[in-house]
Amino acid sequence: MTFCAVIVAAGSGTRAGPGSAKQWRAVAGKPVLRWSVETLLTAGAKALVVVISPGAEADLAAALAGLDGWSFVLGGATRAASVQAGLEALADRPGDEPVLVHDAARPFLGSATIAALLAALDAGADGALPALAVTDTLKRGVPGQGVTTTTRDGLWRAQTPQAFRRSTLVAAYAAWPAGDEPTDDAQLVERAGGEVVLVPGDPRLLKLTYPEDFAMAERLAGAPRPTRMGQGFDAHRWGPGQSVWLCGVEIVHDQTLIGHSDADAGLHALTDALLGAIGEGDIGDHFPPTDPQWKGASSDRFLIHAADLVRAKGGSIVNVDVTLICERPKIKPHRAAMRERLAQLLDLPLDRVSVKATTTEGMGFTGRGEGLAAQAIAVVEV
Ligand code: MG
Repeated sequence: MTFCAVIVAAGSGTRAGPGSAKQWRAVAGKPVLRWSVETLLTAGAKALVVVISPGAEADLAAALAGLDGWSFVLGGATRAASVQAGLEALADRPGDEPVLVHDAARPFLGSATIAALLAALDAGADGALPALAVTDTLKRGVPGQGVTTTTRDGLWRAQTPQAFRRSTLVAAYAAWPAGDEPTDDAQLVERAGGEVVLVPGDPRLLKLTYPEDFAMAERLAGAPRPTRMGQGFDAHRWGPGQSVWLCGVEIVHDQTLIGHSDADAGLHALTDALLGAIGEGDIGDHFPPTDPQWKGASSDRFLIHAADLVRAKGGSIVNVDVTLICERPKIKPHRAAMRERLAQLLDLPLDRVSVKATTTEGMGFTGRGEGLAAQAIAVVEV
């Protein structure tokens, strides 16, 4: 799905301390704005508009030197006016194209967040935003006076980017009452009656506001996100049949694999690898073979369930690699289709998905044609 982006960089950012506005300051040697511009361009933004204040042209050119694929417009007196200026600059893009509206002061945007936002729109939402659950106990009051405790149930910390079909957001701005300042873009679409959904937020996507935030950002920039790895193995026996499911693709063959579900050993190994990476047991724990509802089931759902568990933990899948082990059928003619299917099921770019095949040169149970085996590795950022 193509998308475009508006990055609001028009603030003066005076709370971040003296010196230049925060979006032009460097974190780990790179201007704050440049971090998210690079991520959005790498993720495939077809058009990217940066909204700046008058007089900031030289700062912008210096911050994004050497990058192509962006343009800029001058913002207005308020954030809402700036976003609208950015949307107007995208008026020649298709109206139903998603637009991601992002604040320049959140440098550590990850590709998983972008993918989750686009997937939410693709699933029919009118808007989507990343959000983190509130974990601190909340108090209402004034320092030095009595306080009361307020429930945090159902409360979320909204982040950016926030994603909408461009025409949806333009219409929501047009309907917004003059003189009232929205706190974010999602609020406009909510009030216009649209369904705005939450996708998993990212603790790294913090907003740089105060001087101490920059010290935290320097630490985050230098620290790679922790990664975890999981591996999976599966084997199924050959039996009479006309086709076989492997990595979510049906292949015409003179035998089939025998199993309780569709016996897709590639998907089973990969599901176990994902579950292993997050310490969530194995496929049998989640989909017991004794449960009749999984008889003949498509293994797609097992993999999607494991990927959902990764995301529910705030994680994202870095890459996966599957090896199929058999003498027959020949896997090579189907490898491209298998990669595409896995990339689709996992919502990953194609270059993060690998499918390989090997024989065992006639040795062992795969070599004798008794069965097919699969192994997989998954790397997850958490
Ligand atoms: Mg299996």
